[in-house]
Amino acid sequence: MEALGRHILVEFYNCSPELMNDVVHIEKSMVEAAETAGATVINSTFHHFSPYGVSGVVVIQESHLAIHTWPEFGYAAVDLFTCGDSVNPWVSYQFLEKAFKASHGSSMECRRGQMGLLDRKDFNIDALRNTQAKPYDHPVKFTRDVWFTERDENIALSLKHDGQLYKKESPYQKVEVFATQAYGNMLTLDGMVMCTQKDEYVYHEMITHVPMHSHGNVKRALVIGGGDGGTVRELLRHENLEEVVLVEIDALVIEACKEFLPETASAFGHPKLKLLVEDGIKYINECKDEAFDLIIVDSADPVGPGEGLFTAEFYSQVYRCLTANGIMVTQSESPRFNANVFAEIYDCYKGIFGPDKVHCYLAAIPTYPTGTWSFSFSAKGNAHPLQFDKEKAAQFSVEQNLKYYNEDIHAAAFALPNFVKQLLKK
Ligand code: SAM
Repeated sequence: MEALGRHILVEFYNCSPELMNDVVHIEKSMVEAAETAGATVINSTFHHFSPYGVSGVVVIQESHLAIHTWPEFGYAAVDLFTCGDSVNPWVSYQFLEKAFKASHGSSMECRRGQMGLLDRKDFNIDALRNTQAKPYDHPVKFTRDVWFTERDENIALSLKHDGQLYKKESPYQKVEVFATQAYGNMLTLDGMVMCTQKDEYVYHEMITHVPMHSHGNVKRALVIGGGDGGTVRELLRHENLEEVVLVEIDALVIEACKEFLPETASAFGHPKLKLLVEDGIKYINECKDEAFDLIIVDSADPVGPGEGLFTAEFYSQVYRCLTANGIMVTQSESPRFNANVFAEIYDCYKGIFGPDKVHCYLAAIPTYPTGTWSFSFSAKGNAHPLQFDKEKAAQFSVEQNLKYYNEDIHAAAFALPNFVKQLLKK
């Protein structure tokens, strides 16, 4: 008999007690189990009980997956509930059995909402949506309550969105674009926010105009990463530039941004731009000495394909490829969100460029974890971030109608709070 949904009641036995108590692992596994089965994840909420045990739910467009664990017995009770035929819950079963290192599982499938027992009600669907459910003084429009959440163990950022516009797996990462309600279209890689239409200008104006005005005569610039296009868009505002080379490893990032973040990707057709889809590490290793006046490392976090972009080997190659008065600028993570990585990479820069040649500056980026983000400025020669032509910078900011960068922000960004100075041991 046809049914509305499939409900599989699962019991996993002899799972690892540690895993049964690891709320982060369990949530990640349950979300991936849903996605692997072809489901669209809407939201997830998980709770870690004291002293042990985990409970949680993953809401999917096709219903939900739920779990409760008893680490002391190495046991997990799981509900896999799906409606429609697009999702096969047994795929989630197999995924979780491996993820929880269960010796075995038992299961029972129930068909929920058997059609033969149901009478379809004649109702007006719009009325359901526009119901004056509560005593509001205005009609209430029920919208789809769908949230994208980027989180780590302790911090999460959620953005309400109207749907996923793009979702593809590349050989390097999961590339997605969401239509957020507050920040426009948003590019994420492996579930981490890369840029949004509403605040990308902060990152892209600060990672470019600070070094461009500090150097004053950049002819050739190299961008490693930056496949969204925002960094080269800003660089190519500077007419004296002769060539910009962009080396992005993932063609899907460029494809997604051309279609769904067109303002950010607006300079991909620029005549001075040389766009290469290859690994930036391979490119820099094969690059000639002193080839660039400015090298910008516009990478994602030090995970996946970007991990190698946070190493002494890589930065030493960057140093070699800079002209005598060249500058390297990198996105250097958040001194709040990942203080250890932040402190380590600055030690690394100083080891290569010299302790007095490395400077840190900050910017406020609302959709990045904690909203406080940093950039590093390392000079091979005598360039100094606070020795720049303020009038020229002011004029440029007005002429280019910039939304964040100006001569005052340029200088102020290097004024660091004490906790950051502590991290940099200044
Ligand atoms: N603003 C973002 C941030 O701070 O997280 C970074 C944006 S940009 C999209 C990062 C880009 O670096 C991604 O498109 C990623 O594919 C690219 N990338 C990562 N590793 C790379 C590598 N080894 N060579 C070239 N590009 C790389």
